[in-house]
Amino acid sequence: MHRTERQIEDYLSDYPYLISPEFEEVERQVRLEKDQIADLVYKDDQRIVVIELKKDRANKRDVEQIVGYCKYYQGGPRKVSGILVARSIIESARTLLDKENTKNPFHMEFKAIGSDIPRDITVCEECGRARGVEEDCKTLGCN
Ligand SMILES: [Zn+2]
Repeated sequence: MHRTERQIEDYLSDYPYLISPEFEEVERQVRLEKDQIADLVYKDDQRIVVIELKKDRANKRDVEQIVGYCKYYQGGPRKVSGILVARSIIESARTLLDKENTKNPFHMEFKAIGSDIPRDITVCEECGRARGVEEDCKTLGCN
């Protein structure tokens, strides 16, 4: 099954802990400036994490986009970071991401759908938590 960007956003906003275990809730389609809308944003007392989703391969423009979003949030008391989520990342975009990480106070990382983040998910009948179809439920007290 080939997922669209919208479908990826749907399941990752419903089950953001698939991106990172501490993400219990995220805001979706957050307008930052006039033409800037972040796909997902996670916030707690200590940090803000901007999450940008691409369905296929992430390119340099996608990295520049998430840099812009991180810059938007930067400067407050909370630590800012970014996660670029895509099926893969092209070499030049990876190089740019690494370079931007050395230049800026915020940290960005790439997460691959299909390895870092499950692509095909199922919802556990017992606890209602989502997981990759090939994984066991890791929830405490669940089989
Ligand atoms: Zn379960």
